Amino acid sequence: MTPHKTNLLALDFEALRSFVADLGWKRYRADQILAWIYKSHVSEIAAMTNLSMGDREKLSEKATLSHLQIHTHLKSSDGTEKFLFTLADGKQIETVLIREGRRRTLCISSQAGCTLDCTFCLTALEGLKRNLKADEIVNQLLSVQALLPEGEAITNVVLMGMGEPMANLAAVSAACARMIAPEGLQLAPRRVTISTAGLIPQMETFWKGPVSVNLSISLNATTDAVRDRIMPKVNKLYPLAELMAACRRAKLPPRKSLTFEYVMLAGVNDSLEDAERLLRLTQGIRCKVNLIPFNAFPGAPFQSTSEDQILRFQNRLLQSKLRTTLRKSKGRDILAACGQLNSQFTP
Ligand code: SAH
Repeated sequence: MTPHKTNLLALDFEALRSFVADLGWKRYRADQILAWIYKSHVSEIAAMTNLSMGDREKLSEKATLSHLQIHTHLKSSDGTEKFLFTLADGKQIETVLIREGRRRTLCISSQAGCTLDCTFCLTALEGLKRNLKADEIVNQLLSVQALLPEGEAITNVVLMGMGEPMANLAAVSAACARMIAPEGLQLAPRRVTISTAGLIPQMETFWKGPVSVNLSISLNATTDAVRDRIMPKVNKLYPLAELMAACRRAKLPPRKSLTFEYVMLAGVNDSLEDAERLLRLTQGIRCKVNLIPFNAFPGAPFQSTSEDQILRFQNRLLQSKLRTTLRKSKGRDILAACGQLNSQFTP
């Protein structure tokens, strides 16, 4: 890629409109280009066939458009697909497509690697670390959508891949804005979910901001002692009481609720006393709990809670009318399940 060319994906809609105006073109040209990128998912300027050959050449002299480069593409027996993408600087990120009924959920990364070092998460072992740019986040959707068969479309997005979205909030917000915008990917905001380990100041900035997608909080423990052990960095910064107080203060729009994710680790956070504490912690917060069986990886220092115990834990929460769902594990055979993303372990 020649450095002086503008990457069309790096421009937000307004910037793209001024770029087109600077070429001396009419405004509707920008709308045509946006439609090619975000509705038709083309991966090159040459494919924008309602621009004349001459215009496509002129645009190609000034700009580039390209989807992410696929390093590895794995398909699970359950329909889950995992993509390992290589970025322009050689860093790698993973993206997972999960098929469930008619739903197509794309689990995307917000950083290459992660700095939080949660002890149950494989991404923590990733050596290479940097924030993704907004276009690298959106491009995960564009690149996977372009490969799907006619009639199959990504319906939901979760920022639960590699990285901590709230540690890269500006780029994540810009990317989410493009996912939900009418001239962008036009996903309903309730179908986009950002997941965070609990960075309170950024969560508060997000709640005040204009992008009204869902927020899911990875709680994973009911005491500071256990949370310090499994999420050492984030819990030192923002201990449980502060995190729950921030959630209680959040002014959620009507009918919106928070989700607390809770990874079930055998003998660590899965007792009925934990369930009781979880009920107390979440009291007064409009929320639901999503229990996630721990997905093991080579060398993992934990085991998953047994199915029986997970159901006992869930039943205790349900008895007290706390909405609680249990996440089904998908893509285990290709190490694509939740928390298993780390390019170094790709078979
Ligand atoms: N940093 C963000 C998003 C990435 S992790 C966050 O912490 O939310 C996305 C979810 O995967 C989190 O709920 C996390 O607790 C969970 N997770 C990480 N490793 C896991 C594993 N090995 N098994 C099951 N869930 C895991």
